[in-house]
Amino acid sequence: MLPRVLLVTSEALPLAKTGGLADAVSGLARALRDASVDATILMPAYPSALDAAIELEMVAELPGLVGGDATVWAGWAADAEIPVLLLRNDALYMRPGNPYVDPDGREFPDNAIRFAALAQAAQRISMGATPIRVPHIVHAHDWHAALTPLYLHAAGVKRPKTVLTIHNLAFQGNFPLSLADELGIPPAYRGSDGVEFWGQLNFMKAGLRYADRLTTVSATYAREILTPDFGNGLEGVLCQRTHELKAIPNGIDAEIWDPSIDPFLPEHFSALDMRGKVRNKLEMQRAFGLPTDPEAPVLAMGSRLTAQKMADVAVEIFPRLLAAHPRLQVAVLGCGERSVEEKLRALAEQHPRNLGVHIGYDERRGHLLHAGADMLLHGSRFEPFGLTPLYSMLYGTVPIASRVGGLADSITGLSSEPGAEVGAATGILFDGQTPDDMLRAVEHALSIFAQPHKWTALQKNGMTTHFGWEAPAAQYLNLYRSLAPVAPVGAPMVARRSGVIAPQAAPDVRKRA
Ligand code: ADP
Repeated sequence: MLPRVLLVTSEALPLAKTGGLADAVSGLARALRDASVDATILMPAYPSALDAAIELEMVAELPGLVGGDATVWAGWAADAEIPVLLLRNDALYMRPGNPYVDPDGREFPDNAIRFAALAQAAQRISMGATPIRVPHIVHAHDWHAALTPLYLHAAGVKRPKTVLTIHNLAFQGNFPLSLADELGIPPAYRGSDGVEFWGQLNFMKAGLRYADRLTTVSATYAREILTPDFGNGLEGVLCQRTHELKAIPNGIDAEIWDPSIDPFLPEHFSALDMRGKVRNKLEMQRAFGLPTDPEAPVLAMGSRLTAQKMADVAVEIFPRLLAAHPRLQVAVLGCGERSVEEKLRALAEQHPRNLGVHIGYDERRGHLLHAGADMLLHGSRFEPFGLTPLYSMLYGTVPIASRVGGLADSITGLSSEPGAEVGAATGILFDGQTPDDMLRAVEHALSIFAQPHKWTALQKNGMTTHFGWEAPAAQYLNLYRSLAPVAPVGAPMVARRSGVIAPQAAPDVRKRA
């Protein structure tokens, strides 16, 4: 296999997930391996990761890492298809909550140290300081891994080459600049042409400055982030690197998101035989406490309940929609801002027969929601890629989405001209961020829903669209090859069952208890 690529990330399925980052990294890893790239994931050993990974063996010790001594454990994820290296420091990662926050939703106070340690581990592996074979490319994902290029640059390392993928520029990892000493960021890297950002230490900026190449996950988002409206203050840094910034869209992992094989669904269906969808609808209505009614239009919303997802706008329009359409059902799955969660709970109490809410994170319910609903409302003030509306499309649930970022690239919007033909449309796109903008789009969807032949055409167009990972993985491979053109054939980073190939002295390999 060649070349060897180390994917450094905070999330990957099924080890840890809070959003699309986990889907994207594991989907990419699987597709790269299918294309004979030796892709290995490096991420923190959260409790969920230690539980979900198999065949774990300790393969390296990393004394004196920021945050304390750590070890690296090699194993496999995703039905033993993807090799993973888990960075273990129980004081940093063995906690309840998700990768970033405690069970009450408070950010961990030492997140700077937790993710600097991840980047330092990537640096040491990349410099051959462990028995793990040195990768040809280190591919960091989002701010959590974005110090990796800086550490390698500061160590004067020219190879491996580094790539940073921006999955969401709104999350940047800003911390007090006074932490720079503790994090081992040399003084020469602390200025405004380094990690400094309005007096803070900005992890994402470190990656944007020092990675050899930058990528982001859709062509429209790649253009948008060069502007003040979407650049979150980093547009200036990005504008200096436009020649090294490339858009490579995400794919969809067909082994996980395919209604004809999805193990979470009570009945399978496909574009060729849609009959099973109705059973999913009934099951979904039950799961959200709604009356079972195969004819009622069901509008779903499933996402983080945040301003990015226009959840504040959605809660404004739901009462208006329900007043105008007594038979409409709304099902919401998500968690996020407390005020939105509370408004949704109150609405569900006021409209027990028409609005069902599940506040929380629930993978099974997410699959059922996409399979059972008729339409999915996915407003976004900005959207780097937007996996959720694509999942819904593949499940015959028509997306109603904002015309921004990846959504503008991947959904073909139905014309709003009265009487317009469906043509190649796969969903409804809308501009603007007001309740009226969103309401108009949902009204448009409901008017098409009332015309079954048009609705079925929209559904089928969506279900037969191809979003496989093959093409994006080929683009990444080209990028890697352009950076590391003569990747020698070599042993893999992680070898099946025998642990990591050790070119130097064999490590003290102990089985995990
Ligand atoms: P983002 O990464 O911005 O959150 P995406 O739509 O790209 O948005 O990806 C979100 C991913 O997280 C999808 O896989 C979606 O199904 C999942 N997801 C979001 N919220 C929930 C939830 N409450 N329960 C289950 N899955 C969720």
